[in-house]
Amino acid sequence: MKPLVYDLTLEGWEAWAAERGLPRFRAAQIFDWLYVKRVTDFAAMTNLPKQLRAQLDEEFRFAALEEITHMKSQDGTMKFLFGLHDQHVIETVIMRHQYGNSVCVTTQVGCRIGCTFCASTLGGLKRNLTAGEIVAQVVKCQQMLDAEGERVSSIVVMGSGEPFENYEATMDFLRIVIDEKGLNIGQRHITVSTSGIVPNIYRFADEDTQINLAVSIHAPNDALRSKLMPVNRRYPFDDLIEACKYYIEKTGRRITFEYALIGGVNDQPEHAAELAEVLQGMLCHVNLIPVNHVPERKYVRTPREDIFGFKKVLEHNGINTTIRREQGHDIAAACGQLRAKHMQSITG
Ligand code: SF4
Repeated sequence: MKPLVYDLTLEGWEAWAAERGLPRFRAAQIFDWLYVKRVTDFAAMTNLPKQLRAQLDEEFRFAALEEITHMKSQDGTMKFLFGLHDQHVIETVIMRHQYGNSVCVTTQVGCRIGCTFCASTLGGLKRNLTAGEIVAQVVKCQQMLDAEGERVSSIVVMGSGEPFENYEATMDFLRIVIDEKGLNIGQRHITVSTSGIVPNIYRFADEDTQINLAVSIHAPNDALRSKLMPVNRRYPFDDLIEACKYYIEKTGRRITFEYALIGGVNDQPEHAAELAEVLQGMLCHVNLIPVNHVPERKYVRTPREDIFGFKKVLEHNGINTTIRREQGHDIAAACGQLRAKHMQSITG
């Protein structure tokens, strides 16, 4: 299978051009056709010599994603189910906010992390996406928004999969979408979310970027976190907190801790108090996410007053806290639910 045109960073295109004895500016031209003009075939790259277009066609493929279906929520959220060349399917979401359009991308087909409240992990990990397959999700969304004269203004790497288990491809994806000669998405408008792959939190802290980091914490202590997230047995709670402190110290950036509230499991005031103690003094922010009901799991939703009660305890302890605004609730918004439904329908 030929690589995708979206797999290469600008530096990658420059290296590709150099290896073929082509002038360096050809790389910038190709990048411009892909991400500024957003053409969908090589024939449209009219300022490239015919021979070069033929060479590109021979070495790369364009079509990365085939839209299988999409759903539109009353609040404007759009969820896409895309087919890949090898029959796997992935989800991508566009969220419409007053301040712009945010795209939530997927980095793996399925996931092996096994968080007990998540539909994406039910069938395990099928494979990693390439950088180009992640980039193509943003390009597709941007092409759709082009019709309305709108642009993708922010990206969250929070769809199915664990980006830090597909680290190289995720980093190349980020380099491509932030490139000023391409889509030029502001680094501060991008957030990468990890379940807590500790070695790669250190690695990410040492990268020279302004990209935001979110860590799914979901519990205030080691024992409860291990029950909810098996990854905690690989990378224990205290090690995770240490890595987060390193990130904050190294980058001077605030970490977002994602906390999925699960009715009767981790949503009591004592959990909030314990969490506040752990996070005391850290440059951080907690984002509470009331879990959507996943039919395959037995979890129930936290009552509204308990969600606010939890927030109050954290805030009382000086921890900046928000409750994630629910979007697309009417269209199976929890990550992996649309894909899980599709898999059920084709396997019976
Ligand atoms: S929440 Fe994220 S890391 Fe956890 S199983 Fe789901 S996709 Fe994987």
